[in-house]
Amino acid sequence: MKKIKVGISACLLGQAVRFNGSHKNSVFCNEILSEWFEYVPICPEVEIGMGVPREPIRLVNENNQIRVKNVTDQSKDYTDQLHALADQRAPELHDLCGYIFMQKSPSCGVFRVKVYNQNGMPETNPAMGAFAYQLKQHYPLLPMEEAGRINDIRLRENFIIRVFANQDWREHVLAAPLAKNLVAFHTRYKFLLQAHSESHYRKLGQLVADAGVKPIDEILQQYFTLFTECLTQVAKINNHVNVLLHMMGFLKNQLPSEVKASLLNLIERYKEQKVHLIVPITMLKHYVDIHQIEYLMNQKYLSPYPYELGLRNSL
Ligand code: SF4
Repeated sequence: MKKIKVGISACLLGQAVRFNGSHKNSVFCNEILSEWFEYVPICPEVEIGMGVPREPIRLVNENNQIRVKNVTDQSKDYTDQLHALADQRAPELHDLCGYIFMQKSPSCGVFRVKVYNQNGMPETNPAMGAFAYQLKQHYPLLPMEEAGRINDIRLRENFIIRVFANQDWREHVLAAPLAKNLVAFHTRYKFLLQAHSESHYRKLGQLVADAGVKPIDEILQQYFTLFTECLTQVAKINNHVNVLLHMMGFLKNQLPSEVKASLLNLIERYKEQKVHLIVPITMLKHYVDIHQIEYLMNQKYLSPYPYELGLRNSL
């Protein structure tokens, strides 16, 4: 399988590029995800020539503008250089399907990076690191996550799903932007979308219905924006339960009553959080394969990413 291109803060790959000459090696990124991801490592602060080691920097609110400044000498402002680097690197990053950033960094952080006022006191509202922020202006739909947050199993699974879906979209829709390819894509994602948000799924269906009527480029743009918004919502337990029951309905004529009862029992136990999601899914998938229910075999919900990642073993 061709590896998926994913951007990453270089320190997460064990590169000693932090301000104090250390790194923040992420075992999950470096030793597990690397099996499927081809990383594009970037250390924005090194790339703008700050060197290693370097003086620490932080986000400062200067007249309602978020700037990146040297902690001890506020006359040293790196914001424009970090933004310019993102602008300069953006074209060559067009084929990324995701980006894993280092948390809390004034350059790389995506969520809740601390901001200080000009007197050095912490402010209440956090912001994004300057490089991550500027890259997001170029690629607002690119799945972006922080290494710290993907220690949370639900956020981790959500990010991995979006990266694989992004790759699928590029390969099977963008590469041949035809209405029939959009229909096939939407069909494959039906249950996965429903697990994340039923209302988004319905709106996406309306867009697909317009695919033969409106210009396809317009539809694809709208579809993928809504699709990304949908998958970004973490799937809730009740939604998984509804999807599992719905899928089970496709097997109602094939399964003997005792098998149906066992499956229902597993779904119920998942609902009560007594077993992990992988348990009812494995049983359902087993019977889908045995009975060759093609519509379900193609559903991304059953295999949104390689099984070996084992993410549903803890959900
Ligand atoms: S967080 Fe970003 S800027 Fe800081 S060391 Fe890591 S890659 Fe470089």
